[in-house]
Amino acid sequence: MQKFKRIPSPISIGLILSYRCSAACKHCIYACSPKWNSDWISEDALHGIFQQLSGKLMPDTYGPNSTGLNAGLHFTGGEPFLNFDLLCKAVELAEKYKIPSTFVETNCFWAIDEKTTKEKLQTLKKKGLKGIMISVNPFYLEYVPFERTDRAIKISLDIFGRNVMVYQVEYYKRFKQWGFKGIVSLERYLSLESRENFLRNVEFFPTGRVPYKLRDLLKDFYPPQPPRYFFKERCLTPFLRNWHNHVDNYCNFIPGFCSGITFGDCRQLDRLLKEGIDINRFPILGFLMEDDLEGLYDFAKDKGFREDSEGYISKCHLCIELRKYLAFNYNFEELRPLEFYRQLV
Ligand code: SF4
Ligand code: SF4
Repeated sequence: MQKFKRIPSPISIGLILSYRCSAACKHCIYACSPKWNSDWISEDALHGIFQQLSGKLMPDTYGPNSTGLNAGLHFTGGEPFLNFDLLCKAVELAEKYKIPSTFVETNCFWAIDEKTTKEKLQTLKKKGLKGIMISVNPFYLEYVPFERTDRAIKISLDIFGRNVMVYQVEYYKRFKQWGFKGIVSLERYLSLESRENFLRNVEFFPTGRVPYKLRDLLKDFYPPQPPRYFFKERCLTPFLRNWHNHVDNYCNFIPGFCSGITFGDCRQLDRLLKEGIDINRFPILGFLMEDDLEGLYDFAKDKGFREDSEGYISKCHLCIELRKYLAFNYNFEELRPLEFYRQLV
């Protein structure tokens, strides 16, 4: 018997143009890196997605020409500036479909000199982009020379004014104060800021690549626990929410920050919203929509999953391990893209 569960209509979206990135940050939720095939989103897919999102996304409080983290649409990845022509096309199309409050999220690897930086940002603004979000913290600093980040911020402020978001601005100030140049390994950075302070200050979710790349660093803050420890814990952010969901280059409509999961093809969003999700056909979505990790654990166990005796650092870590097992050993269409599970380590 069919059983359908409704999903909320999105008011803000992050559009992943590709999972390919110039960096491979240890805290990356989507496990992006230069190792991914580019598989850039196609123009046809952009049309299909924007057609569905047009009229649904909400502008920022100050209107469609203003930007906010949880308003309108942002272009993200991976690193969108790796394919600047596509980014320009996507901005143009979003403008055509009247998508409000658009901004691009970047690690600034491309800001190699004043001229290039200015030209790229002015071009994007002319095409209709409203703002930019610039990523700064010690994880990015392992890959992006700080002078590029600094340059991109300064020039962005001239071009986009108050629609520039620097995340996290405290780290920008600190790196300036400390006179950083070039890239800095996390190991070296941790010789300058105590591990305790670092873990208190830096913002990240214990999901995606974090449990695999930062397990040792986090052992006092997130001591590994057996599965049952997480069964009653709530998800970090709600699985079913209308804000800050994502759509990737394969048109997967991704709930929140829950990488490796899809509600279906965003080009069929109207149908998905109207009919809901058939949880008999997509049982993993059924468990996650109910926030029933114990149910998912029992389901995976029946299918041969064996728990890791070393435990899990977070609810998301366990959730990803259960899904990874099911994705590699069975064919669950809701666990996409499969490559995400391969790129975690
Ligand atoms: S966090 Fe951002 S810059 Fe770092 S690997 Fe992921 S997508 Fe790339
Ligand atoms: S536990 Fe799973 S469903 Fe919940 S937030 Fe983490 S990845 Fe998403």
